[in-house]
Amino acid sequence: MTIPRIGVTGNTRALGDAERAGVNAAYVRAVTQAGAVPLILSPLIGTAHLEVIVDAIDGLVLTGGEDIHPTHYGEAPHPRLGTVDQVRDAFELALFREATARGLPVLAICRGIQLINVALGGTLWQDLPSQRPDALDHNPRSARDDRTHPVHLLPGSRLARVLGVTACEVNSFHHQTIREPAPGLVVSARAPDGEIEGVESAEGAPWLLAVQWHPEEFHHHLQPVDHGLFAALVAEAGNRAVAFTASAARHPSQSVTDRASPR
Ligand code: MN
Repeated sequence: MTIPRIGVTGNTRALGDAERAGVNAAYVRAVTQAGAVPLILSPLIGTAHLEVIVDAIDGLVLTGGEDIHPTHYGEAPHPRLGTVDQVRDAFELALFREATARGLPVLAICRGIQLINVALGGTLWQDLPSQRPDALDHNPRSARDDRTHPVHLLPGSRLARVLGVTACEVNSFHHQTIREPAPGLVVSARAPDGEIEGVESAEGAPWLLAVQWHPEEFHHHLQPVDHGLFAALVAEAGNRAVAFTASAARHPSQSVTDRASPR
C-alpha cells in the first residue's frame, strides 16, 4: 500500500528570543489521522527549489496564518490589515503555482483559501468588521473547536460530496474573506451573511478544495463531517502516488537510460 506524503505549509514565529519554524499541531495530527505522512514545509526554504519540494510530496495543505499582503491583489494596505509575512506569501504563492502546474491535489484552509484566490487572480476583503459591518462575527473569542456559524454548501459540489451534507456548523477565526472569487473557481460554501466560506476547482482542473474554517481543529472528535476534507485529499494524493509508482514500474529501462545519459 502506498502511503501518500502531504506537504503542510509552515510559519515563522518568535518564541521568547528565538525564531521558530513550525505549524499548528492540529494540521499535523489531522493529516496523520487521515493515513498520510505530513511533511512540514517552512517558508524559509525559499523559492529556489520548488521542483524538489513538489517531487517529494503527493498532495499539499495550505494552512492558516497571517494576512496576505494586499499588493498581491493590487491594493494598498487597509488600516486594519493584520500581521503579514512577505517571505511566506512569496513561498506559498510560488509553491501553489508549481503544485497545480504539476497536478498535485491541494486542500487550502483559512489563509489558504485566501492565498489560492489571490494566486488565481481574485481579491479579498482586508477587514470584514470595518468593510462589511453587516457581516456575522467571523472571529469570536471561542475555543478552537467551537462551531459558531453555519455554512450552506452548493448541492452537487465537490465540497458537498466530500462532506456528505449540504449545510453544517463550522468554527471561524478570520477577519478577511474572499471579495471577488478568481476566474475559474466555483463558490461552493457561503455563510448566512453571504460571505464566501468555500471554493473549489472546476471538474477537469487539478483537484482543489478550499475552506475558510478550520477542519483540522476537529481531529480529536470522532465523526465530524470535516474529517472528509482530509480523507478526500489523502485519497486523491494516494491515487496519484499509485499512478506514478505504476508508471515507473512500466518503464524501468527508461529510468536506467536517463541515469546513464550524462556520458
Ligand atoms: Mn467564518
